[in-house]
Amino acid sequence: MTGRTHDLAAFTALNMVLVSVPLENMTLATALVAFTANMIGGLAPDLDQPTATLWRRLRGGSLLGKLLSPLLGGHRFISHSVIGIVMFGVILQILLELLSTVLIVDMNVVWWAFMIGVFSHLIMDTFTRDGVPWLFPIPVRLGFPPIRLLRMKTGGLVEKSFVFPVLVFINGLLIYFYYDKVLLFFKLLQ
Ligand SMILES: [Zn+2]
Repeated sequence: MTGRTHDLAAFTALNMVLVSVPLENMTLATALVAFTANMIGGLAPDLDQPTATLWRRLRGGSLLGKLLSPLLGGHRFISHSVIGIVMFGVILQILLELLSTVLIVDMNVVWWAFMIGVFSHLIMDTFTRDGVPWLFPIPVRLGFPPIRLLRMKTGGLVEKSFVFPVLVFINGLLIYFYYDKVLLFFKLLQ
């Protein structure tokens, strides 16, 4: 799955959660940081490969990626599992607590936005040929549909000409059906 698709999938998942939870006042700063955290979360599991979009977007990232990738066991390993999700959650919690001394935003919202991104990443990768080792360290890669050949190839035609447009369409539907709530979200921004 390409970084672009993961970005959009993370945003779609965030949108889905947003329309299904009760809305509260939120500062514009919190919304912007949460949005950024959601994008980063959507790409974070791929930090296990040196060529990851997130590493490429970071100065000196490819070197960092080369160092960190073996620690994470290589591509689609621990960072693509339930243990990986918990790991991201704990590390992020510590990081946000440190950041909260300099950044005045609702870190709870930021944490959730990031984690929704991470979760969406694993869901999307589950639809690809390589599958996802959800149950790491049990060495089984799970995918949907179960027959590998029926799953899509990363960056392939199905991803570009079907998955991406479908995600755009889902966002359109969400905005259409929850238009009042979307408006309310912006009204509650301070
Ligand atoms: Zn991945």
